[in-house]
Amino acid sequence: MSPVLVIGAGIAGASVAYFLSELGVRATVIDAGIHAASSVPSALINPVRGQSGGVDARALEGMELTWALLRKLSEGGFKVPHGQTGVLRPIPDDRARARFERNLPPELAHRWLRRDDLSVPLAPAWAHALWLPEGGWVDGAAFVGALLEASEAQVIRGRAWRWTAHSVEVRGAAGSSPLSSTFQAVIHCGGSIGSGWAGESRTHRMGSLLTLDRPAAEFPLSFGAYLAPSATGGVLGATYESPAQTWQEPTLPLASLGWLLGKGEALTDLSGVGVTGRWTGSRLSGLKIGQDAGGVWHLSGLSSKGFLLGPLLARELAGQVALSLAEPPAGGRSHTPSQAR
Ligand SMILES: Cc1cc2nc3c(=O)[nH]c(=O)nc-3n(C[C@H](O)[C@H](O)[C@H](O)COP(=O)(O)OP(=O)(O)OC[C@H]3O[C@@H](n4cnc5c(N)ncnc54)[C@H](O)[C@@H]3O)c2cc1C
Repeated sequence: MSPVLVIGAGIAGASVAYFLSELGVRATVIDAGIHAASSVPSALINPVRGQSGGVDARALEGMELTWALLRKLSEGGFKVPHGQTGVLRPIPDDRARARFERNLPPELAHRWLRRDDLSVPLAPAWAHALWLPEGGWVDGAAFVGALLEASEAQVIRGRAWRWTAHSVEVRGAAGSSPLSSTFQAVIHCGGSIGSGWAGESRTHRMGSLLTLDRPAAEFPLSFGAYLAPSATGGVLGATYESPAQTWQEPTLPLASLGWLLGKGEALTDLSGVGVTGRWTGSRLSGLKIGQDAGGVWHLSGLSSKGFLLGPLLARELAGQVALSLAEPPAGGRSHTPSQAR
């Protein structure tokens, strides 16, 4: 039997399983297979976030690891649509530019472009354009699928209903009887839906992507919403619904559709681009990583940085879990609890 159980197979759980396998620890992954934010058709790898231009202290490290992983998976024969194409951040005015400039660490490759340098037509309302040559996009579901396969973890489709530091009760398809197992460690990577199922009070935010028959540009454009290439054309998306303290069924209100289209049109000319479908998901904020007082390990709350920081944080957590398995049990416990934060 695998010593470790991972609950949830999004980018967090799949990355944890992958890095555990690199450390010689086999994992079993249980995944309900629904409402994974990580199945986003095209996620940005964008080190300069949102409209504030904030740069996470670990953004560069995270971005480098994500691209390195994608290269390794490609060399291993896995097909994960992605592109390290660069990301363009149109900036509305001088104040916003000053804010972005204050946040940009000198070691992050970037360039302020003049309008004449741009290969896509930006609306006149944009005063500046920041080019991030090391950014890009990735197909979320394909990335997660490749990590899981490469980890050689046993994957069980079903829902973990109850768990402790060493045991879990699983239910598969409706009507199937519960299955109980014991493990040396249990890691909860349930994302937004999993946090809701676990009864936690945390911040959830819903958003939608319209899938497009072609990309609006060869690289992502992002401010307020994003346009990006994808495996089957392109996307226009954002996470923009009001934050909620509980998980909510993903929906796309008509008013939000109008808002999203407006944001897309404001980024660049979308004439001739067709909509082929939509994808809606919910992401969870408030990073939780480490072991809780009950001994259960956690990696969740990756917010809008799941693909930027998820693999990096998963590698660190996998290292801690592997170390705890190697430690002799002290005082009847097999783990030294470090508070989940
Ligand atoms: C509209 C939108 C756009 C986004 N764009 C970007 C972007 O451009 N760049 C970026 O980096 N991030 C982006 N994100 C955020 C990113 O998608 C998330 O940070 C990331 O996918 C979260 O991964 P996760 O593994 O924590 O959770 P999830 O991907 O949600 O996976 C959790 C999985 O666990 C399963 N699960 C939960 N509980 C249980 C249980 N008890 N038993 C069994 N299975 C369970 C669920 O069914 C699910 O499959 C976006 C999110 C949204 C909603």
